[in-house]
Amino acid sequence: MSFDNITGNNKVKDFLNKSLKENHVSHSYLFVGIDGIGKTLFAQEFARKLLCIDQEESENCLSCIKMKSGNHPDFEKIEPEEGIIKIDTIRQLQEKIVQKPITSKRKVYLIKDSEYMKAEAQNCLLKTLEEPPEYAIIILTTANESKLLPTIRSRCLKVSFDAIPEETIIKYINENNSSEIDNNLISMSEGSIGKAILLQEKKDIYESVTNILDEIQNEDMNTLWKKAELLYKQKDNIQDILSYINVYLYKTKNLNKINCIKYVEDTKKRLASNSNYDMSIDYLLIKLWEGINEKYSRSSI
Ligand SMILES: [Zn+2]
Repeated sequence: MSFDNITGNNKVKDFLNKSLKENHVSHSYLFVGIDGIGKTLFAQEFARKLLCIDQEESENCLSCIKMKSGNHPDFEKIEPEEGIIKIDTIRQLQEKIVQKPITSKRKVYLIKDSEYMKAEAQNCLLKTLEEPPEYAIIILTTANESKLLPTIRSRCLKVSFDAIPEETIIKYINENNSSEIDNNLISMSEGSIGKAILLQEKKDIYESVTNILDEIQNEDMNTLWKKAELLYKQKDNIQDILSYINVYLYKTKNLNKINCIKYVEDTKKRLASNSNYDMSIDYLLIKLWEGINEKYSRSSI
């Protein structure tokens, strides 16, 4: 593994490599970017390089072997459990961080999705960020910087991750998957390879949703209801499906897009306010039917 094996964000690669080469390393970093863009992969690879004890970075490096096995005594990854990083977890970090490194010259702590620390946990961590042991490096990642206290943000060196270009995601998915990725799913991935992979895993569902939407345009109500049964069974996945419908609507010609997208957004709101699920889907399909076919009848006048 090296940065070369991670897709995208070459500027970040150059920056981290340069800081390693010049031994100009900060005690705390804040990796900022959307979910699934590779922040954790970058942080783990950066940690491996920081901890490496072999100048040649050879395969026999004890530190790198331990890192690869996920069992390095001087590296720890902290991540949310059930949507929270508890203050107790931060206190444990503080007890351990003062103990000198065992294998390497440094110790690295990665706090993934750090915005899941509540204010009290953040304040607790702040003490360590203000006075870290000289060998310690803390890397925080976040998709939502605004949920971190300004005091935390100002203590860290911010590293921003850019959205990955669509053609790079397409290339990655095509090289690593047995099937090609649908263009609508690429648009939904918002520059995140992680999200594109998750969407691709459910591609059969999205294909069926495309069929349902095509059926609305075919104006065959009976076939539509038969195919639409799928939507009534996708409660857990419905928000992503609604986003997909918006992408479909946006890309389809000859539609009254504004109205149709408004119905999808209405449905999102209904579901968010705990409206009856089946009735919300009924509403969506009927409104989309009206919205899509209204435009057709108008344009034919
Ligand atoms: Zn090494």
